[in-house]
Amino acid sequence: MEFCRSLPKIELHAHINGSISEKTMQELLQKRSQEGSKDPIERWTTTIEKGDKSLDEIFAMFKVIHQISNNTDAAYKITYDIIHEFAEDNVKYVELRTTPRAVPDTGMTKELYLESVLKAIADCEKEDLDIIVKLILAIDRRSDVNIANETVDLAVKYKQISNGKVIGIDLSGDPSVNDARDFIPAFKCARSKGLKLALHLAEVLDQNAETESVLDLPPDRIGHGTFLHPEVGGTESLVAKVKQHKTPLELCLTSNVKGRTVKAFDNHQFKYWYDMGHPCVVCTDDKGVFATSLSKEYKLAAETFDISQQDLYQLSYKAIDHIFDTEDTKAILRQKWCTFAENTF
Ligand code: 5GP
Repeated sequence: MEFCRSLPKIELHAHINGSISEKTMQELLQKRSQEGSKDPIERWTTTIEKGDKSLDEIFAMFKVIHQISNNTDAAYKITYDIIHEFAEDNVKYVELRTTPRAVPDTGMTKELYLESVLKAIADCEKEDLDIIVKLILAIDRRSDVNIANETVDLAVKYKQISNGKVIGIDLSGDPSVNDARDFIPAFKCARSKGLKLALHLAEVLDQNAETESVLDLPPDRIGHGTFLHPEVGGTESLVAKVKQHKTPLELCLTSNVKGRTVKAFDNHQFKYWYDMGHPCVVCTDDKGVFATSLSKEYKLAAETFDISQQDLYQLSYKAIDHIFDTEDTKAILRQKWCTFAENTF
């Protein structure tokens, strides 16, 4: 574990409201109780144990988390704490993602929500933490096309205001709801405005038709891609498209096993893609909900797939190629990795 902790790492798939640590959650609950809020969830724990929740139940958990993070102060604190936690875990570059959210009862608009998140990022930057933070705005697939277009407009607006902190668009939310093809025009519009696309795809079975169409974009990165390959119900054609465009996969071992879309770690799609030399990036997804860290995910990958320390280093080094930030940032990061290698091997 010590090696995985000391290894510099890149996190490319982390949902803000799924990454809240137990500590932050308890502090938010305490504050709410001091303010007189009667949460029915005082004994709430954000984390789940292996296999004790289905994907449906996990999505129900997000609804509860959203009740607690329903105001701008909470959004600020959650983002601020998450960045510190990733920095402590030796993550040198993180792309956080979040769904813009309005809560009329607390006066939080989507703009105020995003401004709180961006202020937390800016404040962390001032503290000189050794971590670069970028933001991806998520389209929830439960929403309609108008909301998706609004999210793209917000991403364009805040990309400018934040001097490039907002860099992309994600598609997430309950994968069994709606059809990803409906959002293709919004994705194309986002791309035409200089935003990158990191899209959850083939997260559940029987979505080959929508996955096929979305892969034609092609996305800049794929989240999960659990059911792409034929051995698990995908198709050769899906695999061929992903390979043709060398589209990197964001792979989250604990999330998929705890969410029961993958039976066990050694069945994880990581093996299929990693063994063929396809770009794979190890990520956490929701480090709070799944009680994990990026170091733990690297350790799990190493133990499950028998990856040496040198190869683990290469895995983390190659993730730099797939960040959405500039070549200048990539060069800065590569230098850090080289220094680590010189001092370690
Ligand atoms: P937020 O966008 O509120 O910061 O983070 C929580 C949201 O991220 C959830 O409500 C859900 O829409 C999305 N999310 C988190 N984990 C997953 C996942 O594993 N799969 C999908 N499709 N969406 C997720």
